[in-house]
Amino acid sequence: MEYQIGVISGDGIGPEIVREAKKVLDKVAETYGHSFRYEEILMGGVSIDACGVPLTEAAVVSARAADAVLMGSIGGDTTTSSWYQLPPNLRPEAGLLKLRKELNLFANVRPAYLYEELKGACPIKDELIGEGFDLVIMRELTGGLYFGARTTETVDGVLTATDTLTYNEHEIRRIAVKGFDIARKRRKKVTSVDKANVLDSSRLWRKVVEEVAKDYPDVAYEHMLVDNCAMQLVRNPGQFDVILTENMFGDILSDEASMVTGSIGMLSSASLNDTKFGLYEPSHGSAPDIAGQDIANPIATILSAAMMLRFSFDLDREADAVEAAVKEVLKEGFRTVDIYSEGMAKVGCSKMGDLICERIGG
Ligand code: NAD
Repeated sequence: MEYQIGVISGDGIGPEIVREAKKVLDKVAETYGHSFRYEEILMGGVSIDACGVPLTEAAVVSARAADAVLMGSIGGDTTTSSWYQLPPNLRPEAGLLKLRKELNLFANVRPAYLYEELKGACPIKDELIGEGFDLVIMRELTGGLYFGARTTETVDGVLTATDTLTYNEHEIRRIAVKGFDIARKRRKKVTSVDKANVLDSSRLWRKVVEEVAKDYPDVAYEHMLVDNCAMQLVRNPGQFDVILTENMFGDILSDEASMVTGSIGMLSSASLNDTKFGLYEPSHGSAPDIAGQDIANPIATILSAAMMLRFSFDLDREADAVEAAVKEVLKEGFRTVDIYSEGMAKVGCSKMGDLICERIGG
């Protein structure tokens, strides 16, 4: 099959880690007889330098024309980079927010998986980890508190700030459908997380999720309050398969889940709309402190490319091959500096990409 992939290399370590992910995709194409065509798209600091804005209209058109977009990371050192002297709507991150909005990317999927070989980096006690964990957080990305009306005003002489949390039933239904669809590709369990004992928006969330669940009799589901979920993630993460939740709860829980794996350089993510299109990127930032040194861990980006194969192209066998190659390399003891422990073989970014390629397709 032939696919057009938009590529946002971005800033900091972005170009280095994206280079490795493309290397892996090329190996997949060669092994399984596909053709991936890449088109570079400027976004973030590099776009500010070249075009004066973090995302041009032409870049949005290119992204829209692609079957999927693979991204590294954007942004610079927020205290020293001149990009952060600009007004907020012209800073690197504004490019990403605009792209998500333009492409209607309302569903964010972040897996948190504990590799047996990296168990030592997990901050949870062995007896609580048990067999390990393999969960994804499905977070609503374009609604809720972060997108509601906000004001700061003086009321009766007192400075008062207000943020509005709004969800309608359509926004909840479409993310719930995504959550149940993904559960069907996994262990068939959805935990819907809300604060229905307090919030009206959560009560509507719960009602709509229950309606959607009726269409998925093969998927088990439960409701959990967000405060309990935050505790359960560090008490018994192995109980979760798909955690389905709204924007702000998902923001917090997905960072908590990534910390529980103990290795930010390993965590992939996808932002999806209601077509097969997706934007795939690592969960970490542009790590300007280590940019250009060939020491960044490319695995999160490579696993994001694997998610692209699975969710946007339905190439499950190829995605399995990439994920298996990553596991193999870890099992053999190769580590980038962020996941290094004594006795292991320390390798750089480019070498890690080579090693993963060598383990695809025999
Ligand atoms: P960061 O994730 O870039 O870095 C945090 C720490 O983790 C650093 O010590 C870094 O060296 C390390 N690290 C991150 N990724 C790594 C990797 N692949 N391999 C090895 N080590 C890695 O977070 P930050 O320092 O808070 O942010 C830096 C910049 O990234 C900021 O401009 C921020 O806005 C931006 N950012 C962008 C995105 C995105 O593009 N979606 C997400 C988060 C942060």
